[in-house]
Amino acid sequence: MKIDILTLFPEMCGNYLGESIIGRARKAGFIEVNCRNIRDYTTDKHRRVDDKAYGGGTGMVMQAQPIYDCVMSIVGDNSARLIYMSPQGKPLNQKLVKELAGEQRLVILCGHYEGVDRRVLDELGFEEISIGDYVVTGGELPALILTDAVARLQEGVLPNQDAFTEESHYNGLLEEPKYTRPEVWRGRKVPDVLISGHHANIEKWKKEQSRKITQEKRPDMLT
Ligand code: SAM
Repeated sequence: MKIDILTLFPEMCGNYLGESIIGRARKAGFIEVNCRNIRDYTTDKHRRVDDKAYGGGTGMVMQAQPIYDCVMSIVGDNSARLIYMSPQGKPLNQKLVKELAGEQRLVILCGHYEGVDRRVLDELGFEEISIGDYVVTGGELPALILTDAVARLQEGVLPNQDAFTEESHYNGLLEEPKYTRPEVWRGRKVPDVLISGHHANIEKWKKEQSRKITQEKRPDMLT
């Protein structure tokens, strides 16, 4: 899978994507992620990429031309799913992440300031995706969240499929609580079943706990 992140702040994305699991997956070639600087595509002699909003109001609006040229230059005649990170978009959840993980190519646009000129979104057919009902200053963190969630479902990125199929949300439940050494910490003991070595009982406990904590923490997921 190939992902292009279109941003005015490529370093913000590059730093995160160079580290840990995603950084290693990129180096090993399991996923390709490029951060494109929208400013490189402006035709303005002062390298401007934004301007005041028609109708007034605080804050600048990102102009259509650099975004359009950036998308056309990297996608050309090839097909790609175009995504604009936006607080007005459909909410990102694991079902949507799984769907996006099946795509060959994603182009993710990060807005900044007051957002993006509506006309370029309509012209190119961007779909809008939100990370939640709140507003952050730019689309970079939202784009990284989406990229990370999609990348970890690609073959080879995690050690095996269980690493994500058994996690919270994958099958509509939250994951059971986890424990590591020591067996007793500040008087709190690891549940006996987990150190019993009885695999069938451990699996049964995990399933029960998973259902129990989903009921406690997110009863809406069970309805
Ligand atoms: N004026 C816009 C509005 O009220 O809908 C908000 C602009 S926001 C300050 C700047 C950029 O951050 C947006 O263009 C978008 O790319 C990103 N952003 C902010 N909140 C987001 C969210 N909840 N989900 C996804 N992207 C978000």
